[in-house]
Amino acid sequence: MVEIRITLTEEQQALRKAVYDLCQLYPGAYWRELDEKREYPEAFVQELTKAGDLAALIPEAYGGSGLGILEAGLILEEVNHAGGNAAACHAQMYIMGTLLRHGSEEQKARYLPQIASGTLRLQAFGVTEPNSGSDTTQLQTAAVRHGDTYVVNGQKIFISRVLQSDLMLLLARTTPLPEVRRRTEGLSVFLIDIRNLPGFTVRPLRTMLNHSTNVLFFDNVEIPAESLIGEEGKGFAYILDGMNAERILVASESVGDGRWFIEKAVQYSKDRVIFGKAIGANQGVQFPIAKAHMAVEAADLMRLKAAALFDAGEPCGAEANMAKYLCAEASWEAANACLDCHGGYGFAAEYDVERKFRETRLYKTAPVNNNLVLAYIGQHVLGMPRSY
Ligand SMILES: Cc1cc2nc3c(=O)[nH]c(=O)nc-3n(C[C@H](O)[C@H](O)[C@H](O)COP(=O)(O)OP(=O)(O)OC[C@H]3O[C@@H](n4cnc5c(N)ncnc54)[C@H](O)[C@@H]3O)c2cc1C
Repeated sequence: MVEIRITLTEEQQALRKAVYDLCQLYPGAYWRELDEKREYPEAFVQELTKAGDLAALIPEAYGGSGLGILEAGLILEEVNHAGGNAAACHAQMYIMGTLLRHGSEEQKARYLPQIASGTLRLQAFGVTEPNSGSDTTQLQTAAVRHGDTYVVNGQKIFISRVLQSDLMLLLARTTPLPEVRRRTEGLSVFLIDIRNLPGFTVRPLRTMLNHSTNVLFFDNVEIPAESLIGEEGKGFAYILDGMNAERILVASESVGDGRWFIEKAVQYSKDRVIFGKAIGANQGVQFPIAKAHMAVEAADLMRLKAAALFDAGEPCGAEANMAKYLCAEASWEAANACLDCHGGYGFAAEYDVERKFRETRLYKTAPVNNNLVLAYIGQHVLGMPRSY
């Protein structure tokens, strides 16, 4: 039987507080300035790495802290709750999971301790392509084996933190689609060193939020055959394996955002006096905030359930997906309540509301679109007819 705790242990509370305290060194003005310049939060990420927080999920044997997904989620939650943006570094936590679960002992010994210490940064995950989007099995980037190397050709889009990473996890097709029995076969995962890689071009793509996102071009890029993770052709299954962790971590970030929006809105609704009274006394202002608070708290329970199942090694696909969906929607509801409560000031950059509004909106779309989560629940959990 899996026990789902709805209160945190003393250690978990201490972890959360330590992260919150660290984040106080990086206030809204820090994130605002970077957002304006679309620059990476390098100092913050280095500090979090130094504190060991980004190595939470790496086993102690490889230099990490060997914590569970719940603790890892609490770290990211607190970054967002404190007003920061954990999406700038969350991938360091979950991308290495593919290496941990499917890499050879030699690959794990070579990379994991360096990722844990921060000597090597692995925050780039190359899946999405212009012509395949959510339909990952249709991706066209090809890796063809030539002796001791694979030659990679193709294009990726929306690949984040490539210029801030030393390593990238790449999903490419190693067997052409017409030659496989099922479209999920013939894809392979590679862990590649992207520093000074001939034929590899990175073009930054400006987006609605500060996310260090890029278009990538592979023009006869030669990578060592030993960068293949696990067996050739099994890459899609390996990537799917890591999805539950990713969903739970993103759900946690949304909970953190939701709490930031609620606290900000409550405070402002008490302070702002219009028509001779605090605006929060008006039910038109108060009720949407109360409603959003309930949505965030309810979504958090699903996050806790998914995390408890994950950490117990139980199947948790349904719960992880539901948590991601519910938390992202709840945070978006809180973002709108907070923006409405602030009136025109919600749109003024110095209040940070508009920045967080843009940042939290992403969680409804990436790393997986909420429509695709609904399709997963409808088709895989409830057994309804497939749309794809
Ligand atoms: C800021 C940002 C950072 C990102 N970082 C990364 C990254 O680091 N690595 C990476 O690989 N990708 C990354 N992505 C890509 C992201 O994962 C994709 O944008 C997302 O998965 C959706 O793919 P798409 O944009 O091609 O949308 P499409 O697949 O074209 O879908 C468009 C719309 O149609 C809907 N739709 C499509 N099919 C169905 C269906 N069967 N049922 C219902 N609705 C459907 C979708 O839900 C969506 O609303 C990032 C994206 C953004 C915006």
